[in-house]
Amino acid sequence: MALMTGMLASYAQFPVLVGVDGSVRWAHFRTQRYTRPGEIVLHYTAGGVFENDVYYITKENERKISVHFVVAQDGRVLLVCPLDYTANHAGVWARNVSSIGIELCHPNDDAPYPEPQLAATVELCKTLCALFDIPVASIIGHREIVPTVCPRALDLDMVRAWVAGDQPQPEPQPKSSPIPISDSILKTNSE
Ligand SMILES: [Zn+2]
Repeated sequence: MALMTGMLASYAQFPVLVGVDGSVRWAHFRTQRYTRPGEIVLHYTAGGVFENDVYYITKENERKISVHFVVAQDGRVLLVCPLDYTANHAGVWARNVSSIGIELCHPNDDAPYPEPQLAATVELCKTLCALFDIPVASIIGHREIVPTVCPRALDLDMVRAWVAGDQPQPEPQPKSSPIPISDSILKTNSE
């Protein structure tokens, strides 16, 4: 695998969590890595409220879970672990090391994912595939690695088809109504 160089510049295109003191907040559990990520692993949070899910994923937690991106139901995307760090989400450490983890905010049920969230996820996957030369076939669901229902109702073949451009994409959030990252994240995460 190729060593990663010049990675930091790529962060600028992703929103990050900034604390009230102005510093970037990263997920608690992360380990620096030196190889290029070669796959994307999709998850659901079993929560659904963006602010709560971000708070749980980034803070020190008993399951030592972390992830790189969180995608809200309304399509907001947040980078919570630097891409040159391994996050803990795949259930198999080697797959953590080789992957970028994305959590979709979703309750613990089989309800369909909202269109703006699917659209944002597809766009994010496209960006990451281009950035790291990741093949579409390497966009996988958590349940394709270990026995789990995660990410529930997400149709992984459809996600891959959307990213590949083989199917018309879901509708994104209208550009006329940008949704800012709410202050409540900043307050809870800076505790
Ligand atoms: Zn999962």
